[in-house]
Amino acid sequence: MEKQGNIRISSENMMPIIKKWLYSEKDIFLREIVANASDAITKLKKLKEMGEASFDEEEYKITVTTDSKAKTLTVEDNGIGMTAEEVETYITQIAFSGAADFVSKYEKAGGDGIIGHFGLGFYSAYMVSENIEIFTKSYKEGSAGVHWESDGNSTYTLGDCEKQTRGTKIVMHIAAEEKEFLQENTVRGLIRKYCSFMPYHIYLNPKEGEENKPLNTPLPLYAKDPKECTEEEYKTFYRETFSDYNEPLFWVHLNMDYPFRVKGILYFPKVRKQVELERGQVKLYCNQVFIADNIKEVIPEFLMLLNGVIDCPDIPLNVSRSFLQNDRQVQKIAKHITKKVADKLGELYRNDKEKYENCWKDIATFVKFGCIKDDEFYNKVKDIIIFKNISGEYRPLTSYFGEEVKEEDAKQGKEAQIAYYASDEKKQAQYIKMFRDAGMDAIVCDTYIDPHFISYLEYKNPTRVKFMRIDADVDGALKEENGEDKEIEEIFTAALGKKKVKIKTEKLKNAAVPAIVNVSEFMRRMSEMNSFYQMGEAPEDLTLVVNTANAAVLALKGVEEEKRSRSAMQIYYLALLAYRQLTSEEWDAFTEANTALIENYLKKE
Ligand code: ADP
Repeated sequence: MEKQGNIRISSENMMPIIKKWLYSEKDIFLREIVANASDAITKLKKLKEMGEASFDEEEYKITVTTDSKAKTLTVEDNGIGMTAEEVETYITQIAFSGAADFVSKYEKAGGDGIIGHFGLGFYSAYMVSENIEIFTKSYKEGSAGVHWESDGNSTYTLGDCEKQTRGTKIVMHIAAEEKEFLQENTVRGLIRKYCSFMPYHIYLNPKEGEENKPLNTPLPLYAKDPKECTEEEYKTFYRETFSDYNEPLFWVHLNMDYPFRVKGILYFPKVRKQVELERGQVKLYCNQVFIADNIKEVIPEFLMLLNGVIDCPDIPLNVSRSFLQNDRQVQKIAKHITKKVADKLGELYRNDKEKYENCWKDIATFVKFGCIKDDEFYNKVKDIIIFKNISGEYRPLTSYFGEEVKEEDAKQGKEAQIAYYASDEKKQAQYIKMFRDAGMDAIVCDTYIDPHFISYLEYKNPTRVKFMRIDADVDGALKEENGEDKEIEEIFTAALGKKKVKIKTEKLKNAAVPAIVNVSEFMRRMSEMNSFYQMGEAPEDLTLVVNTANAAVLALKGVEEEKRSRSAMQIYYLALLAYRQLTSEEWDAFTEANTALIENYLKKE
């Protein structure tokens, strides 16, 4: 007996809207249909466990078949099945009204930004099908096979059919313009993308009489108890999930059931390039169904430098993204993940310092970026941030912090402790040597993110630390007191007359260096910022510190004017060279003067 009925939907023009909106992502239909099949099996399993369904043991499975001749894509399960009444209620009424509900939500959301497309479920298959048939048989004893068919517009037919086995078969008659979904490779790709971790075996076009391999891993590693996972399994899972043949450095296994559920593994990858922040990939799952990559509303932005999978069954995925961002539950989950990552880093720092130090160059960017982005993360990890110093040793950041400067002391002119840093060990070699010789320490800050991180640290600890580049100033420890020499200062002022350079005389402990160039930290940062924002070159603010402990410098006294001035210029260029590259004009002048010097020197012989 065939029955005819009208599909009750409130929104008549639903189909065009859904088709148009989902156009770019229409492949999610397969995820929805397979997820329904998987749910149907889970329901049956539960009933069996409760003793409410009995049947012979068999493999729970989902079979997907493509048939390019018949132009059908079929998804079959051996789950709970449906009676005719259930088909009417769940498919015709709920599924279709669910779609109507979706449309109204979609319109409220302003037309974009809906994440999960969940709840649209069965109906989404109409994005690619011109007609859909359902063959189903309920687990209930004595049930008959049911056949349902509709082109998704407004009518359907419901009747009996011959179906021997329990479960549901969804036959999608693929529309002519969507024929890619009839290709085995396309379908395989989609199943791998969306259904890799679904809990029951999924077979694609299985061959009878042969041993068929499922496409998915029903119990992905992240869903297991961390105590039962081996190091090898973690590495394999990483390789297979991210197709990265570099081993991860370490990982964090999230496994929380209460007060919210979140499972997953976050891997710290080896960084290949240091210059840029490398994007990782964090895949979001909901009950082992893939939702999307890198959803920044759920996963804190800085964690996306990692590679990982996260399964959060509690996230409301059918709402707009902006809503998600303010969802309390989502915020709690994000906090939890952040805390776990910080805990892991702390654990490694305490238990295996050597490994921690070895990994540091790979994880430093992540940690620093995390601090800048998330104060709470900074508070959790600040004691385990380390810096390499100019002797090549790692030291904790906080060891460079001073005691807090109290307000009344600050009024007396007391300043926060200075932490010196080198931003380029090669270019700043001369300064580093002076520091080393004087037994002074400086840290090496030579990554892309360091200038930002330094500013952040100063902002967070204004009374405890101030960073100064190694060439910004001559620290008290590098010089003797009262080393000024008016006469020398005048010689240089006269020689450098037209140049915009400040002259200072100091008696440096290192007598071998005739002079060094300093640029104030503040001015240098300003000009770096200018070039960062492409606001043009700021004028240089150089100070030439002439070393009154140096023999050549002292020898300038009492020498005739022309020689004195030439030699002073040479000393200036030498100092400049240790600071930066010479401009072409400077280089010409330097070469000319140098050649003259050589000539004179040779003539004397
Ligand atoms: P959702 O899955 O979000 O509830 P759907 O539109 O995908 O919405 O499906 C509606 C209902 O139809 C399901 O809740 C389920 O009761 C029923 N259903 C769909 N597919 C199957 C299936 N393969 N086996 C049994 N029941 C199904």
